Amino acid sequence: MTHTNSPQNSSNPAIIVHGGSWSIPDSLREGHLVGVINAVKIGYQILQQQGSALDAVENAVVCMEDDPIFDAGIGSFLNEEGHVELDALIMDGSRLKSGAIGAVQNCKNPINLARKLLEKKDTMMLVGSGANKFAKAMNLSCDPKSLIIPRELDRWKQGREDIFTPGGTVGAIALDTKGKLAMASSTGGSQYKMVGRLGDTPLIGCGGYASAVAAATTTGHGESFMKITASKMAVDLIEDGFSPQAAAKEVIEKIRSINGYGGIIIIDNFGRIGYSFNTSRMAYALISQDGSLESGIDPK
Ligand code: ASP
Repeated sequence: MTHTNSPQNSSNPAIIVHGGSWSIPDSLREGHLVGVINAVKIGYQILQQQGSALDAVENAVVCMEDDPIFDAGIGSFLNEEGHVELDALIMDGSRLKSGAIGAVQNCKNPINLARKLLEKKDTMMLVGSGANKFAKAMNLSCDPKSLIIPRELDRWKQGREDIFTPGGTVGAIALDTKGKLAMASSTGGSQYKMVGRLGDTPLIGCGGYASAVAAATTTGHGESFMKITASKMAVDLIEDGFSPQAAAKEVIEKIRSINGYGGIIIIDNFGRIGYSFNTSRMAYALISQDGSLESGIDPK
């Protein structure tokens, strides 16, 4: 079984975004849903105006980075030393080209920085001091302290004993009117992480992947998604003939089999969308090719 047919509906765009897969408490339920719906609408509007999948996913992710409810951009978890270190990845399926940023400390919207890397350089991944320097060069730098909000400072001060599961990474994948696919994802990583720790999010093939056939992005326990290069696995499954929904289930089943947890969203060049998660909740919103919006947070 191979995915060789040409897209039937490439003129109709589609998009799905997520706002993290973890035990999102009832008190944060509404905020997560509002956040993902706002983001999917921003992305879809760009697609409707013939914008590219890359622009759509970048702007959808910016919308969630700027929303402090999520663990991305402002409001992110602090590392063991009380600093914000952000990771992001954007990938263009038609060019197989990425921009990946790891452990940047001085950039409010690392997804914008990742996009600059994708467009301006042959280099596909920048981390740490190199990423901070690039943020300054691109006029995308800020005071690192401005990324810390009181909620996260309090949580950090409570110390390690209070750590709960990671959550609130954001991601978006889209198909545009030209039939092109892209993915974008951004995170503050896990709470109290080691200085310099990278999870799956900025790693090409792990936290995200896009080809001419499909795009995927993940959220959850990063080290588990890294073990199985989850996003590349998802895209390979689709190239082998799986539907996005079947591929999403397969990847999460594999995650479960290694005692991992989290979620994945997938789209293919037919505009078909799939998602799956094995945590108690994952915030997501999607607009399918018929223009209908669906959002949710609980398992079906
Ligand atoms: N996967 C992210 C990481 O490990 C965290 C998350 O998705 O919530 O950095």
